[in-house]
Amino acid sequence: MSIEVVHSIAAVREKLAPRRGSVGLVPTMGALHRGHLRLIEEARARDRTVTASIFVNPIQFNQPEDYARYPRTLEGDVAVCESAGVDLVFAPPVEEMYPVPPATSVEVATLTEHLCGARRPGHFRGVATVVMKLFEIFQPDRAYFGEKDAQQLAVIERMVRDLNVPVEIIRVPTVREADGLAISSRNQLLSAEERRIAPLLFAALEAAAGAVAAGERDAAAIKRTAAALVEREPRIRVEYLELVDAAGLQPLALLDRPGLLAAAIWLGTTRLIDNVRLEPRQKSHKVVS
Ligand code: AMP
Repeated sequence: MSIEVVHSIAAVREKLAPRRGSVGLVPTMGALHRGHLRLIEEARARDRTVTASIFVNPIQFNQPEDYARYPRTLEGDVAVCESAGVDLVFAPPVEEMYPVPPATSVEVATLTEHLCGARRPGHFRGVATVVMKLFEIFQPDRAYFGEKDAQQLAVIERMVRDLNVPVEIIRVPTVREADGLAISSRNQLLSAEERRIAPLLFAALEAAAGAVAAGERDAAAIKRTAAALVEREPRIRVEYLELVDAAGLQPLALLDRPGLLAAAIWLGTTRLIDNVRLEPRQKSHKVVS
């Protein structure tokens, strides 16, 4: 079947009515890249019908300039979806999703207290609300989200659990460039010089993971290891670099359970985020002979 591109909620419902039972949804904001493609591949591996939404969601942006300059490349995105085997693309205009300013929203507490949640007021409310709307529109069996946006993924998983939403959330590992930079639609906003520096973010997180592998458990020391690398580059401004527990996203003083080391940096006017999961190693027991 060739791809169908629709712009109205009614059309999504009509097209999916005869195809219920194995519908996968990949929600995106467009400017599709290899990260999104991995999500689509995962959906194709599990679902008979693969759908994608392309919508730059205004209510999750807290800065109008950021919303205005977010890349919009619908024609190319549809071509990418078609060659990746997507069956249905939903690309609504803003008025279709928000005919009136919404009075109802979904707020996921605690998990949004730190990391991006602390710096982008209302961001995750906007994300949770639009994802809930998309779940109501598509009623997918499965929905696919990238670990690159680890806090977003945790928020969606918790929303689905708390509100008994009948959608299985599939986590997809972060897809990276050869030099380690997490692929992101925002990377195309970087100057050549900024692009050269950007891989330092992942290198710093990796250095911290190396310290953990060598036995470090102290959160301050783990964070210092990562910070030392990014702070060496004066053009990087660190917005946050935090170690939280992977389940509740609360700050850890000691890596005594699975953790998430997450960071946001600014390179010029572009904000990049990345994270790595850190597992506390089993203490090695000395055998006394
Ligand atoms: P976005 O279009 O940036 O809102 O992203 C849509 C989905 O793609 C989200 O679930 C992201 O986590 C996921 N995604 C974005 N970049 C990557 C990446 N490099 N690797 C894996 N998933 C990604």
